[in-house]
Amino acid sequence: MATLADFSNEKKYKAIVKKTSRLTPSDAEEVRELVIEVQDPAFHCAVNQSFGVLVAANGDFGNAYHHRLYSVADIPETGHNKTILTMLVKRCFYIDEFNGEKYSGLASNYLCDREKGDAITITGPHSLPFEVPADHSANLILIGMGTGIAPFRAFIKHIYQNIPDWKGQIRLFYGAKSGLELLYLNDHDGDLTSYYDNETFEAFHALSPRPHMNDPIAIDQALILRAFEIVHLLSLTNTYIYVAGFKDIKNKLDETFAKILGSKEQWETRKAELIAGKKWAEIIY
Ligand SMILES: Cc1cc2nc3c(=O)[nH]c(=O)nc-3n(C[C@H](O)[C@H](O)[C@H](O)COP(=O)(O)OP(=O)(O)OC[C@H]3O[C@@H](n4cnc5c(N)ncnc54)[C@H](O)[C@@H]3O)c2cc1C
Repeated sequence: MATLADFSNEKKYKAIVKKTSRLTPSDAEEVRELVIEVQDPAFHCAVNQSFGVLVAANGDFGNAYHHRLYSVADIPETGHNKTILTMLVKRCFYIDEFNGEKYSGLASNYLCDREKGDAITITGPHSLPFEVPADHSANLILIGMGTGIAPFRAFIKHIYQNIPDWKGQIRLFYGAKSGLELLYLNDHDGDLTSYYDNETFEAFHALSPRPHMNDPIAIDQALILRAFEIVHLLSLTNTYIYVAGFKDIKNKLDETFAKILGSKEQWETRKAELIAGKKWAEIIY
């Protein structure tokens, strides 16, 4: 798995915040959509990429900059020597295991606090592992948790907008702690909902059964409810699985796919085939 050190922060670009809006209601976790403009013609970014954000650090650990990655959440707009990028950012907080105190995540809070007209420093672009298969009849099972929906928003839009002969089935599973935080449904422009009409596309969402108790999101139940179709898709050689989201999703997905396929061994064998055939890709953070 790649670590942040694998992503160079040497190439830096200035970007201006053109728009910032909160996607979630005030009583839910804060997720914002930021639209930024990079005015440097040397910066080229594609749909299947991320970019870094550099924040001046206080140097506690001897580092002058704090570098964090964000997925491109819409098809980048280019022209007139500039690039317009959309990103989804969740305002992160962490509880210190030793003293129990709550700390703010540096880059996410910095980004959520930016206002229209502010300048930020970005790096990249950096690749994401989610390639559009060359076989346009391939099937895609996309699983995006929380802001993990961001790369798939761009990816699905790109497929239906720019690949007219796309025939494969796309199943998007996405989840959040509560309905209030579902980025997909809270997407003001409804850009994904318009694809509901496409006969190859279906989306399913999962929630936490008790969001206030911090219960995990029931992505397992959402997948198990569609077990019949997943077993069928996984019996085909041209099915891909792409996953994005927080690290706690990893074991949960392995357990769930093992249940769906009948045993841990069957899932391990199928997953190994997917990985070997470059049909499994993930970004976990
Ligand atoms: C390829 C990729 C794409 C991504 N895309 C997105 C995206 O589209 N949207 C998005 O919102 N995020 C995305 N992320 C995650 C993002 O890069 C950041 O990790 C996230 O925003 C948190 O960064 P931060 O600087 O706010 O938090 P940090 O300050 O970096 O804190 C992060 C980590 O440090 C630890 N930590 C921090 N402070 C403390 C403390 N005081 N005590 C104990 N532990 C602490 C926590 O364990 C936590 O895991 C992506 C990550 C990757 C790798």
